[in-house]
Amino acid sequence: AKRAGRNTFAFFNHSMNTEARRTLTLEHDLRHSLEQGELHLHYQPQVDLSSGQIIGMEALLRWQHPIDGNIPPDEFIPIAEETGMILPIGRWVLEQACQTAARIRRLYTRPFRMAVNLSARQFEDSELILQVDQILADTGLPGNYLELEITESLLVNNFGHINDILRQLRRRGITIAVDDFGTGYSSLNYLKKLEVNQLKIDRSFVQDIPGDRDDVAITSTIILMARQLGLDVIAEGIETEQQQQFLLQQGCRTGQGFYFSRPVPFSQLQQRWSHGT
Ligand code: C2E
Ligand code: CA
Ligand code: CA
Ligand code: CA
Repeated sequence: AKRAGRNTFAFFNHSMNTEARRTLTLEHDLRHSLEQGELHLHYQPQVDLSSGQIIGMEALLRWQHPIDGNIPPDEFIPIAEETGMILPIGRWVLEQACQTAARIRRLYTRPFRMAVNLSARQFEDSELILQVDQILADTGLPGNYLELEITESLLVNNFGHINDILRQLRRRGITIAVDDFGTGYSSLNYLKKLEVNQLKIDRSFVQDIPGDRDDVAITSTIILMARQLGLDVIAEGIETEQQQQFLLQQGCRTGQGFYFSRPVPFSQLQQRWSHGT
């Protein structure tokens, strides 16, 4: 038992070292990823759950590392946030997404929204509003085509300041969605006072509906709550027709997930878009 224990420990230790080394390498490589052209965006359609029509899309960042290949955002975004690299990277994401949206808008008359994830570091950056204004002006994209996704955890600090920024964004026609909703701690009262438009039900709740009773209770409560607060609601991570049907029954009209489409490069999005679904 002792030997096994020591082996386990040695293995654990070794793997930690490997992990730490990888983080350091990624941290170093991430600094050059932008200029080397290794970053690009994929787009996941957001659909009307009853008609299947695309009503928008979420821009999701991809990093094609020259040696290690595709690095998942859940791995490199935290590193980008810790090192501050998320500021230039996040700006680039916003620029790219708005450029794409402006292109789609010139090609097709149907209205839609481009959703972009914003990390807390970006949100707290005093340049944010200026940056958004510049990007909208440069790309010619009207603010009402843009949606920003922020997380619930961001909303619990410094209410006055955060709501002031949200208000400024809303004044430009931008939609504010609360991402991963249900995983944090925002109270009803708090939500009511916040300048947000939409709650995005986290995919961890969508995953096990309609089988899991707790998740059924949580999703239907969020949908009901959104309605009472006059907020839109969207479900993420829809993988089955059953999930789609259940959400529709509960009154959730929009969603995204692999059932409709995985995140895809712009060229593929464009194909689907021009076919209407
Ligand atoms: P998120 O914002 O919650 O994005 C949704 C994630 O769920 C995406 O993972 C998407 O590919 C995945 N997904 C969508 N539909 C399904 C489904 O039906 N089933 C399952 N299992 N997964 C689904 P992805 O692209 O790996 O991104 C992970 C996270 O990385 C994002 O979670 C977001 O927090 C972060 N991220 C991605 N791009 C950006 C970005 O440009 N800026 C910032 N700040 N964060 C980003
Ligand atoms: Ca998101
Ligand atoms: Ca999410
Ligand atoms: Ca997430």
